[in-house]
Amino acid sequence: MDDSAFGKEDARGFWTPNKPVSYGPAFDWPPQPRVLLKWLFGFPGYFLPWNVLYAVAAILIWMFLTPSLETLKTFSLSWAALILLRNIGLAIAVYGAWHMWLYVWRKQETDFKYNRQWPKKESSTFLFGNQNYENVFYTLVSGVPIWTAYEVLLLWAYANNIAPMISFADYPILFIAIFFLVPFIHEVGFYFAHRLLHWPPLYKVAHALHHRNINPGPWSGLSMHPIEHVIYFSTILLFFFIPSHPIHMINLASRLGVAPAQGHTGFDRVVMGDETSMDTSYYAHYLHHKYFEVNYSDGMVPLDRWFGSFHDGTPDAHEAMKARRLRRGV
Ligand SMILES: [Zn+2]
Ligand SMILES: [Zn+2]
Repeated sequence: MDDSAFGKEDARGFWTPNKPVSYGPAFDWPPQPRVLLKWLFGFPGYFLPWNVLYAVAAILIWMFLTPSLETLKTFSLSWAALILLRNIGLAIAVYGAWHMWLYVWRKQETDFKYNRQWPKKESSTFLFGNQNYENVFYTLVSGVPIWTAYEVLLLWAYANNIAPMISFADYPILFIAIFFLVPFIHEVGFYFAHRLLHWPPLYKVAHALHHRNINPGPWSGLSMHPIEHVIYFSTILLFFFIPSHPIHMINLASRLGVAPAQGHTGFDRVVMGDETSMDTSYYAHYLHHKYFEVNYSDGMVPLDRWFGSFHDGTPDAHEAMKARRLRRGV
C-alpha cells in the first residue's frame, strides 16, 4: 500500500504523517455530540478495537488463567509462579506478534514507517550488542516479574478484603463503568509516572535506558530499567482505593504490560489489505522518542497541551518547542 497519500518522506528518510496528532474530542469544549459519537463508536474509536479487546481479554484471564479467590487468600509461591508464567506467555504472544509481523516477516516493508531505516543489527550501545536482545531481556527479566508482583499483591488483597471489592451482581452499572475508567487511569497514571522519570536524576539512573531506543520497535515498549518498572506499574496500586473487581485490576495491569508493544511499533499505520490500513495512534510517542521533552502522554486526555509540552508534528509545534528551549537557555 502506498503511504504517500498519508504523509511525506524527507531527504533523510523520515516519514511524517500529514495529519497532526490529535487527542480526539473527549475533552473538547463545548462538546460536539456528533463528533463525540463518531469517536466513541467509530473504527478505530474509543471502544473498538483496543479497549474492548483489552476488557474481553481481562475477563478471559480472570475466568481461565487466574486461581480462585479461595486459593488467592493464602499467598503461595506456586500460584504466584503460575501468574508469572501466564504473563510471560502474554508478553511473548503480543510483543512477539507485532515484532514478527512488522520486523521479521516485514509484511508491509517500510510503508508507514517513520524512520525508513531498520534498527541496526549490531550496536555497542545495547546489552549483548543488539537492540532487540536488550529489549527482550529487560521486558522478560525485569518488566514482567515486576508487573506480576503488583498483580499478585492486589489479588491477595482482594481475596482478604484489603482492597475494596465489588461484584457484578451487586453493582452492575459501576462494574461496567469502571471498564470505561481504566483507559483513563492508564493514561493519566502513565503521564505522571513518565514526568517523574524525566526528572534529571531519575532520568539518568533509570529512564535513559528506555530512551536508548531512538529507532524503536515493539519490544522497545517495556524495555525499561527496573526502577522505571516499579514506578510505571505502580498505577496498579490505585485499586487499593477504587472499589472494583479483580477483572478491572487485571484489565489495567495487562494493558500496562502489553500495550507498549503497539505504542512503539515505529509504524504509523498497520496495513490490513490492499486499500485498508489502521492507525496505530503512535505518532505522539514517536515524537517523544525523537525529541525527549514533548508528549509525555498520548491518547485522549490533553495533558501535554494543558502542561505546555504538546507537539502535534506540525512545523508550528516544532517552532514552539524550539522557542521553549531558547527560553530555558538550552
Ligand atoms: Zn517509549
Ligand atoms: Zn521518556
